[in-house]
Amino acid sequence: MQTLRMKDGLFGEFLEVLRGFGRLVAPVEKAPGVFTLEIVEDITKVRPEALRTILPIKKFLLKPKFCMLHGKLGNGAEACQDNAYGPLVYVGAHACDIHALRILDQLFLGGYPDPYYEMNRKQLTVVGYGCMPDEKCFCQSLGCSTVDTGFDLFFTPLPGRFLVTVGSARGDDIVRAKPSLFEPAGKRDIQDYLERLRQREAAFQLHLDVSDLPYVLELKKDDPVWDELAKKCLCCGSCSMVCPTCTCFNVRDELTADGAQRVRTWDACLYRDYALVAGGHNFRAERADRVRNRYYHKQEAFVRQYGMPSCVGCGRCIENCPTGIHVVEVFEAVRGELGRQQRALAKGKGVQA
Ligand code: SF4
Ligand code: SF4
Repeated sequence: MQTLRMKDGLFGEFLEVLRGFGRLVAPVEKAPGVFTLEIVEDITKVRPEALRTILPIKKFLLKPKFCMLHGKLGNGAEACQDNAYGPLVYVGAHACDIHALRILDQLFLGGYPDPYYEMNRKQLTVVGYGCMPDEKCFCQSLGCSTVDTGFDLFFTPLPGRFLVTVGSARGDDIVRAKPSLFEPAGKRDIQDYLERLRQREAAFQLHLDVSDLPYVLELKKDDPVWDELAKKCLCCGSCSMVCPTCTCFNVRDELTADGAQRVRTWDACLYRDYALVAGGHNFRAERADRVRNRYYHKQEAFVRQYGMPSCVGCGRCIENCPTGIHVVEVFEAVRGELGRQQRALAKGKGVQA
């Protein structure tokens, strides 16, 4: 892995170089302190330091709604290219966003690759950017606060310059497209980088103990906390929509003015009809069951299947819940005093979560 240095005044020129590798997707400030991830034409609008965009990069891999097939009456169906973005360069990916991409890759490129995801993912260049956590970030607790793979280039801001890590052959191609922008990193750059890492790790204010969480959750399936949470949760699905690792989707057929189309849309396990099956049976009709299901999926079922949680601690769900439900507080409430006792017991017996 090659480590370089770039003067921060050259970042605009660097963005122009990136255009040669695809359309730029980057955070843009829509209102004071509110950032969205957008395809950017005007590079002066690029704000890679933005901590959190409302929607994550998943919207440029699988659109919230896209046509899969369309057909006119009397003719056969044809595949749509509605979800084909072509080459994109994602500028401003933070460590948690890159970990989220790894989770999406496992889901959509694992056993049965999803062609819609795969087509966009293969053409996505990832340019990471170091951030400083706020009071809603807890990626550190999930081992997602740093990253050493999964990007093409990664920029860490240092006073007056960036430390640039080259993480792939594509990253190397970008550097070679305009080598005059870069210099070899020196001892001082590495020292400043390590100091920044130290400051960053110390800056986390929010922590979640995930050490034995799957085991505690297993014990707490019938805990009253889920009923209490169901009284507060609207099952609006906002937390799922903004989550970089939530991937539920639906496929349905729609009539159009001149025929019909098959569309794929984002869905959420929190919606009442998500678990409605043929015959009218709904296996998660109760709100408490749906709320619990989301939390169990993130920190129990996914851990058992893939060996890690499907939460990267980005804080988007905390920022966007209309009733103020806080994911870390939920797990703290579930763990409770009994959870602490069980944890000690489990450790004593050598039980592995
Ligand atoms: S955003 Fe909040 S209220 Fe809406 S479904 Fe998620 S936890 Fe419930
Ligand atoms: S559950 Fe919340 S904190 Fe975790 S990855 Fe999803 S949006 Fe981010």
